[in-house]
Amino acid sequence: MTNRVINFYAGPAGLPVDALKRAQDELLDFAGTGMSVMEISHRAKEYDAVHEEALALTRELMGIPSNFKVLLLQGGAHLSFGMIPLNLLRKGRKADYITTGNWAEKAFKEAKLVAGDNVREAASTKAEKFARLPKASELQINPEAAFVHFTSNNTVEGTQWHDFPKTDKPYVCDMSSDIMWRPFDVNQFGIIYAGAQKNLGPSGVTLVIMRDDFLEMCEAQDLPSYLRFKIHAEKNSLYNTPPTFGIYILRNVLAYNKSIGGLKAIEANNRKKGELLYGCLDKHAGFYKSFVTEKADRSLMNVDFFLPSEELTATFVSEAKKNGMVGLKGYRDIGGIRVSTYNAVTVDNVKTLVDFMEEFAKKNG
Ligand SMILES: *Cc1c(COP(=O)(O)O)cnc(C)c1O
Repeated sequence: MTNRVINFYAGPAGLPVDALKRAQDELLDFAGTGMSVMEISHRAKEYDAVHEEALALTRELMGIPSNFKVLLLQGGAHLSFGMIPLNLLRKGRKADYITTGNWAEKAFKEAKLVAGDNVREAASTKAEKFARLPKASELQINPEAAFVHFTSNNTVEGTQWHDFPKTDKPYVCDMSSDIMWRPFDVNQFGIIYAGAQKNLGPSGVTLVIMRDDFLEMCEAQDLPSYLRFKIHAEKNSLYNTPPTFGIYILRNVLAYNKSIGGLKAIEANNRKKGELLYGCLDKHAGFYKSFVTEKADRSLMNVDFFLPSEELTATFVSEAKKNGMVGLKGYRDIGGIRVSTYNAVTVDNVKTLVDFMEEFAKKNG
């Protein structure tokens, strides 16, 4: 335990120690089987209990109503980028995409590959390097669109939709980097999808939450089986071998989340972390320069900022590392520093970083 670092990686990212310790305790003898969970059939009752618990905890924590299916798939957010248009948009149905960052743009491009002119951009802030989100007045929603796709948290740029985009369309949303960061009403969403490796667990599991009317819209008889959402829904995500170990860790993370008070408690922690970190950036605004230009759009999951020089940036990263903090180097296209403060990063972790940042600004400012 003493050699654990403070982990600010953007993804895969840190996990709650309790969830990892539980895995450690159960690794060699899972549920009295004399095997690890990796070594038993995905049809075994001991695995099935984990699978069902992961699904049930997802529903409970997020308050997902019964007219939604919860799926545990593979292929990351990327496979969902493709599966969504493949299932929903090939036969003339239309959709709008809001492009607010690297991943939002990728989702749009993948949809265009599949559905061509049936998908269009409802807004983009690319001309401003995605350093802010579009305002309500900038959204041009096609009245014929069946849904509006957006990315709730822009992992690379550090913006986040605190109020979801104003439209009367159902949302389809990539929540890979902020799922379960707070409670919210899922009813307006047709599809929510998220790779697990930022806020939920290890890479290799993708959580997909789909409303029944969206599942009904899937027209995919001619697609290979794995690409059809309906098959996964009918088979309760056991159509083929699911990523059992990843789902097991997801279960541990969700059980831990519940034990600390669920998404309300998690939100309170995330807000505290944001106050500390942005408080420090604002206090030293002459030294640390935020990448995001609108305060209202600031992400509580990824915080991007620059120091006065490349040299100081490199010193910041290496001195932070000497102080037990890793994962602070900015995304390659943006540079600077990115601090990822997903659910598993504690308020104390952020306090340690902010103390370091204060010192660093004093010494070098
Ligand atoms: C990390 C990330 C992705 C990429 O996810 P994969 O699981 O690697 O496909 C997509 N969207 C967002 C918002 C992300 O943060």
